[in-house]
Amino acid sequence: MIQSAETLPTWDLSDLYSGVDDPRLEADMQAGRARAEEFARRFRGSIAVAELSAGHLRAALDEYEALLRNQYRPQAFASLLFSTNTQDPARGALLQKSREFGSAVGIHLVFFDLEIGQIPAATYDAVSATPELAPYRHYLDHQRKLAAHNLSEPEEKILVETANVRGQAFSRLSTEINTRTRFRLEREGQVQELTQSQVLALLHDPDRGVRQAAAESVTAALKHNAHLSTFIYNTLLHEKDVLDRLRRYEVPAAGRHLDNELSGEVVEVMSQVCADNFDIVAEYYHLKRRLLGLDELTHYDRYAPIAGEEEAIPFAQAQGLVLEAFGSFSPRLAEMAAPFFSKRWIDAALADGKRGGAFCAGITPDHHPYVLLNYTSQPRDVMTLAHELGHGIHDILASRNHLLDYYPVLPMAETASTFGEILVFEHLQKSLSSPQDRLALLCHKIEDTFATVFRQIAMYRFEQEAHQARRTQGELPAEKFDALWQKHMQAMFGDALKLGEGHACWWSYIPHIVSTPFYVYAYAFGELLVLALYACYQREGQAFVEKYFSLLAAGGSRSPAELVGAMGFDIASREFWQGGCDLIRQRVEEAKKLAG
Ligand SMILES: [Zn+2]
Repeated sequence: MIQSAETLPTWDLSDLYSGVDDPRLEADMQAGRARAEEFARRFRGSIAVAELSAGHLRAALDEYEALLRNQYRPQAFASLLFSTNTQDPARGALLQKSREFGSAVGIHLVFFDLEIGQIPAATYDAVSATPELAPYRHYLDHQRKLAAHNLSEPEEKILVETANVRGQAFSRLSTEINTRTRFRLEREGQVQELTQSQVLALLHDPDRGVRQAAAESVTAALKHNAHLSTFIYNTLLHEKDVLDRLRRYEVPAAGRHLDNELSGEVVEVMSQVCADNFDIVAEYYHLKRRLLGLDELTHYDRYAPIAGEEEAIPFAQAQGLVLEAFGSFSPRLAEMAAPFFSKRWIDAALADGKRGGAFCAGITPDHHPYVLLNYTSQPRDVMTLAHELGHGIHDILASRNHLLDYYPVLPMAETASTFGEILVFEHLQKSLSSPQDRLALLCHKIEDTFATVFRQIAMYRFEQEAHQARRTQGELPAEKFDALWQKHMQAMFGDALKLGEGHACWWSYIPHIVSTPFYVYAYAFGELLVLALYACYQREGQAFVEKYFSLLAAGGSRSPAELVGAMGFDIASREFWQGGCDLIRQRVEEAKKLAG
């Protein structure tokens, strides 16, 4: 395993439960099941009625919200505990138990949102306008919109109960294939068998030979799995086609747009503006080719580092950097981040069996969030720390909402995290004196932004065409997906970088494409929104700070169009999205200047 020279923080979960064998866990789960049964007994059949009163619906919503809050505590504990040691069978068993608990509770609750959707229109109009229901108005209105696509209760129950033997089973199979696949690579005369994250990390190696070998290894392994991956993807596309037909969704992405509380037109405007700005990517890769001193670039040169070795940053220094950067925006921002360190809400250690990557887990409005990282002392880990703390601050500010409005919708969910990263990036950039270091950091940032904005939009456009093709042409061969992938990904790079043939099958390891269709565009939405917000901060200074905090404090209580509209922007306009793209172009111009 990777060793770290310093002792990294681990989190303290004791304010949830004391451990796997805390008797309160079992007691809370039992009580949760009983409470859900009682809820169904008390309210089932009493919501979708003409004589419904506002007081009765309010009582049901309060109870529903409270029982979900109680349900999330053991579930969150089980999943947090598992994430720091996935090899411990006791933790695995607790996680499984908490999931079964979730399904056992969920089955009693299916009726509730369905009945909200079936309240007669005249009754709904009368009760939803009362002050009693004002706090739940946004939740209720959204459920009414979703209801247009609901099936009957027995049908929905069958879908809930069979979820794990349909699409979810295929998407789990895809995850298992990806985690089990070993990538063979010859290095220093020895054949190594690498995991996916190990082999993908080599695409960042300064040695082109290593990058090329890693890319060939990725291609060989994905080709070996091509039959399975193609079968799985075809099956998932077909299942979605069937469910979309039953639920009366007109286009493949419509269900996602509705969940995101966005109109399809807004997403199409954003997607088109991004595609119209793909030349920014090409412009940058012309520069990168020159900096790398290569005649031409191909897919394994995309992530080649501009500078050599990067300096290690100990965790304590990262903490200082992030708190300083946050504090220079507003002392309140630094104050909100401080308890993550002082109260041990962060687990940053490296350990065998700990899951990779990073996340922030918001629990409930009445319980603080937790952050998980794998801190390897690289400058990008400082960015990750800023990112996850941004999420944490979003959760803390949004905690004035009830649970049903607590979590931001997907397109807004990366606002505070991305904003936190920009603050730290600008802070780091100012602290560097050599143009070479500043260029390296800037190139890093530009490539990250490309990955979040343009690459996600290219993937979104790939998905749109793949879903459409499966619907009109039936089951598709691997070559068809390969050709679509190559077409949409190449579009970003223009003539600055030519993706090699070996890259064509690389769609098959992207988990979002397989498991959560059309998830990807939310990343582009979030990043472009934050660029616009940051430009606003640069113009307005301190006047912006309070507006920004109230945007975050709204949590999921309003739609993205309303939230962003309150900041003075119109997400339906081309200009809004073009403004974000212009800021990315400025960074590329700055990199060209630094490169001389
Ligand atoms: Zn994030």
